[in-house]
Amino acid sequence: MACNVYRNGTGLHKGAMRPLAASNSSNVKSSSFKSRIPPSSNHSPGSAPLRRSKSAGGSDGVPGRVRVAVRLRPRNAEESVADADFADCVELQPELKRLKLRKNNWDSETYEFDEVLTEFASQKRVYEVVAKPVVESVLDGYNGTVMAYGQTGTGKTFTLGRLGEEDTSARGIMVRSMEEILANVSPETDSVSVSYLQLYMETIQDLLDPANDNISIVEDPKTGDVSLPGATHVEIRDEQDFMELLRTGEAHRIAANTKLNTESSRSHAILMVHVKRSVLGAEDVIPSETDKSSHFAKPPKPLVRKSKLVLVDLAGSERVHKSGSEGHMLEEAKSINLSLSALGKCINALAENSAHVPVRDSKLTRLLRDSFGGTARTSLIVTIGPSPRHRGETTSTILFGQRAMKVENMLRIKEEFDYKSLSRKLEIQLDKLIAENERQQKVFDDEVERINLEALNRVSEVERNFADALEKERLKCQMEYMESVKKLEEKMIENQQKHGCDGFMKDKCNGEGPVSSIVEDVAEVKKLLLKEIHMRKEAEDKVNKLRSQLGQCPDSGEGGGSEILKLQKALADEVRQKKKLEEEMIILRSQMLQLTFEADQMRRCLGRNGSANAYGGLDSPMSQVRDSLNGHKTPVAALFEQVGLQKILALLESEDANVRIHAVKVVANLAAEEANQERIVEAGGLTSLLMLLRSYEDENIGRVVAGAIANLAMNETNQELIMIQGGINLLSVTASRAEDPQSLRMVAGAIANLCGNDKLQTKLRSEGGIKALLGMARCGHPDVLSQVARGIANFAKCESRASTNGIKSGRSVLINDGALPWIVQNANNDSSPIRRHIELALCHLAQHEVNAKDMISGGALWELVRISRDCSREDIRSLARRTLNLSPIFRAEMRRLRIEV
Ligand code: ADP
Ligand code: MG
Repeated sequence: MACNVYRNGTGLHKGAMRPLAASNSSNVKSSSFKSRIPPSSNHSPGSAPLRRSKSAGGSDGVPGRVRVAVRLRPRNAEESVADADFADCVELQPELKRLKLRKNNWDSETYEFDEVLTEFASQKRVYEVVAKPVVESVLDGYNGTVMAYGQTGTGKTFTLGRLGEEDTSARGIMVRSMEEILANVSPETDSVSVSYLQLYMETIQDLLDPANDNISIVEDPKTGDVSLPGATHVEIRDEQDFMELLRTGEAHRIAANTKLNTESSRSHAILMVHVKRSVLGAEDVIPSETDKSSHFAKPPKPLVRKSKLVLVDLAGSERVHKSGSEGHMLEEAKSINLSLSALGKCINALAENSAHVPVRDSKLTRLLRDSFGGTARTSLIVTIGPSPRHRGETTSTILFGQRAMKVENMLRIKEEFDYKSLSRKLEIQLDKLIAENERQQKVFDDEVERINLEALNRVSEVERNFADALEKERLKCQMEYMESVKKLEEKMIENQQKHGCDGFMKDKCNGEGPVSSIVEDVAEVKKLLLKEIHMRKEAEDKVNKLRSQLGQCPDSGEGGGSEILKLQKALADEVRQKKKLEEEMIILRSQMLQLTFEADQMRRCLGRNGSANAYGGLDSPMSQVRDSLNGHKTPVAALFEQVGLQKILALLESEDANVRIHAVKVVANLAAEEANQERIVEAGGLTSLLMLLRSYEDENIGRVVAGAIANLAMNETNQELIMIQGGINLLSVTASRAEDPQSLRMVAGAIANLCGNDKLQTKLRSEGGIKALLGMARCGHPDVLSQVARGIANFAKCESRASTNGIKSGRSVLINDGALPWIVQNANNDSSPIRRHIELALCHLAQHEVNAKDMISGGALWELVRISRDCSREDIRSLARRTLNLSPIFRAEMRRLRIEV
């Protein structure tokens, strides 16, 4: 208990005026009640960046003793009368912050407090010295407690809870604290909410919701923080809200106390104000290891401070001592006083630095855990009355205050990272970025549209230029074409005049012959060309129309887009059309080439006075034009150069069958010229022709292709190339499909040419060349038979040569492949070319003894005998004779048959 007691009349030592332990005295003296304990938090709340604070999770704190003020109530009317003859039991020395408690007329004790408030102290002053520093701490993020302790009737409620509705100067700490808080928070970033509770007989009732009459206390096991999640929290925006809330709370308190048959002095009223504030954390400054002068700074972190102001109007302290004597039931009295006595015990334990503080003994001590010995800034106001009749109560109240002054708290800021606000900020930032991205996308789209439009314009321009160039080219072609036709006609007339007397010419010139048909063809081509020109013109008109539509076309909206699409489509159509026209131009030109070629040939025939066949000599399926006109360029050559071999060859792969067949014809004609053959093969013409044969789809194409191949097959190198590229197989397949004798004639001609190559004998036979050749004989057409016979003769000749040279031995492949019956059968064919080829073949076969027996049994001997006697050609006649005479087998047989040659 209080020591260092000063008695009235005894000397007052300046240095020993307070009844506190010496260890604490300096603490008391050095600290002003008003001083703001944590200087680091002394900044304007809200927007100002903080220094890196010791956040809730940190272990550091600022020491802060519980501050205690004593307030004396003035004498009331009753006391003025009853105690009229007595002096007050206390004497205050506010300037010295001392209180003298008179024990009797001659003895007193002096106590020092943090603040001594006389009966004249205004409510404003009381607020400023007791509560304001706590409220400011709460605004800075610390928990705070203001508690009134004292005997009933000494002014606890007066000090804390007066509303001062009529007289604002009478407003108590609750109203003033809230005014201050509301004045300092910012409605945009901060929030204030209030709970108002009553603790009676260890039951917590919600004064804002009377139905909620048993609220439990929840403790965070980690932090030890206490909360009342079941209590009503009312958000406070202005003073009116708060006054209304206090009024409601007070009304409920009265109602609850009536119901419980108690009175407010027997319960504890607890107002909890929750303040939540957003602040910006300080920049995290991390010194660099290498360079002490440079720092990396991170942007400030959003922080949130959640502090709590607890204002406690305790039950009358006299109950601790007097409950029993005032006739209350013992149990009730125990319960009523449990919290208050537990508070006293806790404060004693804390004041004495005891190892055990019985916080858990009551609900009040659990609720005030942070206020005494915790992290809150706490002010206690002890209220006393002046009456000497209550000296005992007054003494115990003063001693309670004295003990509380020894309680040391460790103030700690209630601050944490504001993840919500951080996420909100990031969301805003994200939205900004999205908006920016959208803007940029729009700019990009516009740019793309612009480039598109520009490209479209350029395409139109190129298109225009191309059309112009095409038109010029077309006109040039037309002119050249006209000129060459004119020249041709002149030449023909000249020729006709030259040979006017010739009978053949008369026949040919009477309008039915090939010349007139060429003239007709030329006229036809002219007509086609004119048609093309007309079509071209139409197409150009269309393009111009589309272009002008494009010019009028609005450049925005979906309509514009689809219009552009339409135009692009039309443009693509036009390009296709143009390509087709170009192709057709080439075709026309190559047709012209073909016709010119034929005319050339005709002219040549006429030049030779009609003495030779116009089409196809005996030895070649296509007639060959070998010489040019006295070294001048023939119209064929000129046209050939104009059109270009590559272009013609490209047409071999055209999608249009007509174009293909026409191109093949031109190539075939060109291939008839020895001079062109090499160029055609070099440019890949042979491969293209074989390809066409492979994809054989039409007999017409097959025929002309085979003709072209036959022409190319006149050359030894080409023969090998044809074989290498599987030509014999392709020709065999073509032969098996073809029905037209002219097709078969071409195929047979090609194979016949290949038959004349010594090197290819084996391959030709193994790939079925002989069989294919013999197979074609089924058609019976003399032209075909003639080629078959030529092939067999060629083959027999090569085979005979190989046998003579010792390269080959054994029976003839022709006999093996069953050619002999056909040979014998056609040996005396009416057609002299066939006959002659077979006669030669028989002679070749007969030269080798290995064939003799088969020839005799196959009836070939008779044919040889006939040849030796009747052949119109002397050389063959004598060859047959000689062969027969040289062969012992033939001779023996002839002797047996009594034949002589
Ligand atoms: P408690 O709450 O401690 O029981 P009250 O606050 O109800 O006491 O006060 C009892 C009476 O004393 C009330 O009528 C109140 O107006 C009056 N009173 C208390 N303190 C003062 C004061 N400082 N000045 C004037 N009247 C006071
Ligand atoms: Mg009261």
